[in-house]
Amino acid sequence: MAGELVLIVEDNDKNMKLVRDLLQYHGYRTLEAGTGAEALAAAGAHRPDLVLMDIQLPDMDGVAVLRALRADPRTAAIPVVALTAFAMTGDRERFLEFGFDGYLAKPIDVSAFPAQVAEYCRRRQGGH
Ligand code: MN
Repeated sequence: MAGELVLIVEDNDKNMKLVRDLLQYHGYRTLEAGTGAEALAAAGAHRPDLVLMDIQLPDMDGVAVLRALRADPRTAAIPVVALTAFAMTGDRERFLEFGFDGYLAKPIDVSAFPAQVAEYCRRRQGGH
């Protein structure tokens, strides 16, 4: 099933490495961006199958990056999943209201993460 291209937007090197290594181990191709500007450039150029979006980035917050992706016809349809350390009750609903396609809390659950990513990619392909 894998081989999908996932854009990882994350400014923390340790988190980036963990997510990248896990995805690659499970057969995904990955792109990396450490800032919102890099994320927008990479998404527009490569049109990934999925974006995993950290919320706290050095140059803009992940919600602003999401809005910019949605505003660009090249990237408007790409699913974007918030990947954030905020773990308060109700956060999930808040991120869905912002327009994210999903929400994964950090630290990620290493054993569940590959299946979670696969599910978001499957939705992208119109599966149920
Ligand atoms: Mn961050």
